[in-house]
Amino acid sequence: MHMAAKEILNRLKKNIKYIEEFFGEMFSYDTIYFALLGDLPVTLEPILSGKFCKYANNNGIPEKPGPGDEDLYEKAEAVSHFSLAESGGKLLLLDLQGVGHNLCDPEIATSSINQNGQDEQFFCAGNPQDHAYETFFAYHVCNTYCRLLSLKHIDPENQYIKKI
Ligand SMILES: [Zn+2]
Repeated sequence: MHMAAKEILNRLKKNIKYIEEFFGEMFSYDTIYFALLGDLPVTLEPILSGKFCKYANNNGIPEKPGPGDEDLYEKAEAVSHFSLAESGGKLLLLDLQGVGHNLCDPEIATSSINQNGQDEQFFCAGNPQDHAYETFFAYHVCNTYCRLLSLKHIDPENQYIKKI
């Protein structure tokens, strides 16, 4: 999930190449490592120092920004919208949180929970597929960053996803 989130940001960086001066600093995910702690699998990632903020929760509902943080929150909202557009509606990057532009611990919702009825579930048990799309569509309001990226307006009746 972390690597997929990182790839979404890489694609977004390519998309803002010509509008970078307007878009400003881009979010990033650090490299994380898989390890064993005794017999238990663990992931390790750098400690993020500073004020930790949750920009959007794993239901796709934007969090309320603190004073002066409005820009970061809007940018995070646009990142979620971009993930939806870039994947043709197949996935939605959520749970955007971290310190400043350094993000960690993402969640990804998918438009279907698995492929062709197979037992394996996309992006583990944390996939909030059953409700995240609905709430994201209900709460997302396109902002300056969505417009900078020329993202399509999200239809409240989910027409955006039905076209896919
Ligand atoms: Zn938008």
